[in-house]
Order: sequence, then C-alpha cells, then structure tokens
Amino acid sequence: MSNRELLDNVATEVVVCPKCRLWKTRTKAVPGVGNPESRLVLIGEAPGRSEDIVGEPFVGAAGKFLDALLFEIGFSRAEVFITNIVKCRPPENRDPQPDEIETCTPYLNRQIGIIQPAAIVTLGKHSTAYVFNKAKIPFHSITQAHGKMYEADILGMKIMVFPTFHPAAALYNARYESQIREDFQAIRKELLKRNLVKP
Ligand code: URA
Ligand code: SF4
Repeated sequence: MSNRELLDNVATEVVVCPKCRLWKTRTKAVPGVGNPESRLVLIGEAPGRSEDIVGEPFVGAAGKFLDALLFEIGFSRAEVFITNIVKCRPPENRDPQPDEIETCTPYLNRQIGIIQPAAIVTLGKHSTAYVFNKAKIPFHSITQAHGKMYEADILGMKIMVFPTFHPAAALYNARYESQIREDFQAIRKELLKRNLVKP
C-alpha cells in the first residue's frame, strides 16, 4: 500500500474514533493533512475552534502564521505533513489531559511510522514534551528547548527534532513571533545542509 492509502486508513479511523471523552464535544476530528512522502512533519497541540469546524489542522489565525513561517523557509503547506498530538478539540481549548494524549497518540505514532520523516517540528510545549519523552530526551521547558536541533531515536527511527513555540503564542506576544521566526530560520539552515529544502 502507498503512504497515501496507509494515512487514509488512519484518518478513516480517527474521524469516527470514540476512544476518549473528546469525541463527545468535537464537531469534526482532525487527523492531519499534507504530503504523504514529506521529509518534514509538523506537530501541534490539538484542534481549535476553526479546525474543529473544518476538520483540518491549523486553518485559523495560528494557521495563517504557520503558513507564513513555512513559506519563509521554502515550503508550501501542501509539501509538508501537519497534524496534532490530540486529534479532537478540547472544550474551550483547554490543555489536552494526559489520559487524552495517551489514548490518542497511537494515531500520531502510526502517522510518523508511515511517513518516516527526516525531521519533526514540535509546536509548543505539549507536542515537544511528548516527542522528547518518546526519545528519552529530558524536557524542562519550551523556553529552554526551543531553537536547537535534537537527534532523536523515536519509534525505531532516527529523526531530527526541532522544538519551537506554538504559533498561537505569537498572536498575543510579539516576542514569541520573532523567536519562532528565528527558530524557523535555524531549521532552514539544518535542512539546507541535508538538501531537504530548496536553496
Ligand atoms: N493549534 C494547534 O495546536 N493545532 C491546530 O490544529 C490549530 C491550532
Ligand atoms: Fe479518539 Fe483522539 Fe479524538 Fe480522543 S482525541 S476521540 S482518542 S481521535
């Protein structure tokens, strides 16, 4: 089966998934979108209000900023794969709870296993903590972890991990906006070295 077919199988399960309490309050589950052969996967936290309505990740205000960040490092949205650690919107956009993350992340792990990306960008503390924990890298805070590249052993694969702040953080604090932009430029540099982005 192609990566497309395998990812579609995951998405088919996610859209009807009743495994945690979030299924009761969601409008649409949000499995993820993008290029099944992408070398780069971006992982956010959970769908927000717009994503819950549309069924696609990062389509609201934070998504507009993410599109701009991707463009600045030479990618279109369609060239990469974008998803979240939790596939359904938590009520009032509260943090995903540990049991929800535990119940939902087998879907994310399958997606990563299918795509086998060269690099993962974790957006915000929740996805960074999740990926660092999988890779047995100590996680203290996103402020401390961001802006650097980590060579991680995740799910039996060697993957570069680039943690940065959540793009939504930039919407209420301009300090984060410039830091995320700098982090994406650092990502671009590392990807350029490995011919993973157009010069
Ligand atoms: N914030 C996220 O973490 N994910 C989305 O899909 C949208 C906003
Ligand atoms: Fe299923 Fe994940 Fe949605 Fe919970 S958040 S219902 S585990 S898809």
